[in-house]
Amino acid sequence: MHHDPKLDLEKKFRSHAPGYWADADISEADWNSAKWQLKNRITSLSQLEEHLNLSEEERNGVILSGTKLAMAITPHFFNLIDKDDPNCPIRRQIIPRVEETWVSPYEMSDPCGEDSHMPVPGLVHRYPDRVLFLVTDRCASYCRYCTRSRVVSGAGEQELETDYEAAFKYLEEHTEIRDVLLSGGDPLLFSDAKLEKILKRLSEIEHIEFIRIGSRIPIFLPQRITPELCEMLQKYHPLFMSVHVNHPREITTEVKEGFERLANHGIPLGNQSVLLKDVNDNVEIMKTLVHKLLMSRVRPYYLYQLDLIEGSSHLQAAVEKGIEIIEGLRGHTTGYAIPQFVIDAPGGGGKVPVNPDYVLQRNSERVVIRNFEGNTFEYPEPAVNPDPVLDY
Ligand SMILES: *Cc1c(COP(=O)(O)O)cnc(C)c1O
Repeated sequence: MHHDPKLDLEKKFRSHAPGYWADADISEADWNSAKWQLKNRITSLSQLEEHLNLSEEERNGVILSGTKLAMAITPHFFNLIDKDDPNCPIRRQIIPRVEETWVSPYEMSDPCGEDSHMPVPGLVHRYPDRVLFLVTDRCASYCRYCTRSRVVSGAGEQELETDYEAAFKYLEEHTEIRDVLLSGGDPLLFSDAKLEKILKRLSEIEHIEFIRIGSRIPIFLPQRITPELCEMLQKYHPLFMSVHVNHPREITTEVKEGFERLANHGIPLGNQSVLLKDVNDNVEIMKTLVHKLLMSRVRPYYLYQLDLIEGSSHLQAAVEKGIEIIEGLRGHTTGYAIPQFVIDAPGGGGKVPVNPDYVLQRNSERVVIRNFEGNTFEYPEPAVNPDPVLDY
């Protein structure tokens, strides 16, 4: 078996606080404060260059990011960058590159067709029984492949104009909606009080059975996952949370502790990864990631093929890679560790599962399948009989 010492390091839960942040005088209390982390985010080229040597592609990318998707990086997440590795998987997710200004003909500003499925500004009703509620356009840090970069961060042309009252009214009137997914932007960027107002209002709508929050704050800003936040959230059960981890290095001891705190307050956690070229398009990296997630009490939920967002082709891996990863996991490791690989159909078709082919042949009499080791098996379908006869 090929042994990769670098991957061994990624398997460990390591603390990165306060680490090698250029300003070595920060107190531990400051570093551990979400407020301090947000106030000290890297948002300009000069700040970034204080900490990191940039390539020409990155420098130009940072300059141009101001007109598209803003740059912001929390000190916590920035500290995960390996400064000696120009292809660092953390770096590629968060430092803008000039390639973001290259647009391929098949790329779109709204790749999942969300704007055409908004009955009310900020509310995406794509599926029969559930909605996506975009409560804010801000995040703790900005992922360079953001599927919603058209409205997120405030730098682009379009603005998210969520109409809360109209959204609540729509939810109240549409009794078929049983599941509300809060996203944005990142809902956990709101204060506890502001977030609670939304949760309380939703919990008062009788037909809403289930609330979810989609957030990358547990990863970008684990300091935000305070006991107070968790105590507030646990009043609104059943409440699930979908987090977003792409690479095993992102699960530091601080992040793991945040996940555990949420889980201890009864919040089931699922992870959504995006398949990214030279970040996680590799079976061994993904296997390490899903194992670390399970150890942190997070169930891998989805692996997304990259949405065709404008300026993302440098991060686009082949669909074949995603299938190869699922094939490398299924049977080879814990079933709970395996996410569903999906493509969010370009233009607004919703999430479509994409799986390796395990069914080799199928007709009315039998199905021929193969297992994870490549052996084939036959399973006979039930014989087609005339009407069953009662026989006492
Ligand atoms: C992803 C998504 C959901 C939730 O989908 P699940 O498969 O239930 O997790 C709901 N609405 C929209 C618009 C989405 O993109």
